[in-house]
Amino acid sequence: HPHELSGGLAQRAATALALVGDAPLLLADEPTTGLDRDLVDRTVDELRAHTGDAGRALLMITHDLAAARRVADTVAVMYAGRIVEIAPADAFFGAPGPRHPYARGLLDALPERAFTPIPGSPPELGDLPPGCAFAARCALADATCRAARPPLTEGVACHRA
Ligand code: SF4
Repeated sequence: HPHELSGGLAQRAATALALVGDAPLLLADEPTTGLDRDLVDRTVDELRAHTGDAGRALLMITHDLAAARRVADTVAVMYAGRIVEIAPADAFFGAPGPRHPYARGLLDALPERAFTPIPGSPPELGDLPPGCAFAARCALADATCRAARPPLTEGVACHRA
């Protein structure tokens, strides 16, 4: 019975159900939560195998950057409810790397990279500042950043990118 499944098993069952049928778009919201690393890799490989050449698009929402790197053609980074950077996965995870300070901070926080956390905390979504939502945590912030919200231009929402 569904209520008898562990979190990881329920996650895998939900992924298997989503792959049944021929929907043109698969929306996977944190599909690897609760799985160990080996199962994460197998799950994203399975999602990948059932999209792309299979004629189906995949939109995966995740906090797992390793899973995103394994499956994505394009990466979009969100902060405080907005996309702040969108880039080809090869350029984002390789060279030249992320352009937005928050996106760079995400990669620098990984243990296999600089292992340096981003200072501070995200803002309250119901009380966002008038300018850039990342300004309070950004080492590059200036008066322009605090006064005006940067639009997403050529793939990045940052006055200084
Ligand atoms: S707009 Fe300013 S505060 Fe926001 S990420 Fe860019 S440099 Fe930092």
